Amino acid sequence: MGADDVLLEIEDLRTHFLLDDGVVCAVDGVDLRVRKGETLAIVGESGCGKSVMARSILRLVDPPGQIEGGTITLHRDGGPVELVGAGQKLLREIRWNDIAMVFQEPMASLSLVHTIGSQIVEAVRLHENVGKAAARKRAIDMLDRVGIPMPQRRVDSYPFELSGGMRQRAMIAMALACRPSLLIADEPTTALDVTTQAQILELLRDLQDDFGMAIMLITHDLGVAAQVADSMAVMYLGRVVEYGTAEQVLSAPRHPYAQALLRSMPRLGQARQRRLTAIRGMVPPPYARPGGCFFHPRCDHVMAGRCDTVAPSLIPVDDREVSCLLYEEDK
Ligand code: SF4
Repeated sequence: MGADDVLLEIEDLRTHFLLDDGVVCAVDGVDLRVRKGETLAIVGESGCGKSVMARSILRLVDPPGQIEGGTITLHRDGGPVELVGAGQKLLREIRWNDIAMVFQEPMASLSLVHTIGSQIVEAVRLHENVGKAAARKRAIDMLDRVGIPMPQRRVDSYPFELSGGMRQRAMIAMALACRPSLLIADEPTTALDVTTQAQILELLRDLQDDFGMAIMLITHDLGVAAQVADSMAVMYLGRVVEYGTAEQVLSAPRHPYAQALLRSMPRLGQARQRRLTAIRGMVPPPYARPGGCFFHPRCDHVMAGRCDTVAPSLIPVDDREVSCLLYEEDK
């Protein structure tokens, strides 16, 4: 990957929750890069820290969560900016303009008491010096672009007047109204039926081509990731365990957790008799993380006396990065 291609660089990001019962290390040393124009899928079971990691980028983590360390560098045309220490003024400038976010449930982001159009107009005018009429025209154009029928009428609808799929389209229209260079989509299709899910994924792909933006797609569903991702990072308990192209990770995963995740997923074309295998054991409770490799109590390749004491780091393996002691021994 050329340095010029990198849009967002995350290094050793740590986001912790300081609770009465202890500290939950939701994100525990994540290293990632998003290239311009690519789709990076972040996959893993629920509770692996992928959503907290995504929210940390825009500093949207609610207390008692806080970023304890690391850097998040956004490479803008005017030069790189560091987001972890950024002030509110810079963050307001970056949200929507450079980085926008859509969530699983649009109602969490859309105001119930304002029309779709007025919310898009407000987002546009907050970031760009345009008049009301021009911003409303932009809102109508965006609603049209995301496939909402009769956008001239729908622009004056309230969110509760739209179906789930239409609300998600409206949320995407709002997110893209300022032409961000990165869209973070956090489980954008999880609440939708399969047909609408496929339509929204296709829409995201089309919009990416039109706008040339990068997408960070957060999903627990490998099938969804497989449909759109160029690159893929598999997370487990707040850490990235495998990071490579989607093809590498999906066709020949190297980390035992990524392998187990794939075996648990149904695939088109696979023999009907082939049984899906659930990942052994349970995700450990947040206050009782195992020592050494976090995955060792569930791993089929565990090396006693080593995996339970030594924490692996992310190292290059076969043109990708993997965090597993099996490969550190090979070096
Ligand atoms: Fe399994 Fe050991 Fe690799 Fe962890 S470090 S994934 S326990 S083999």
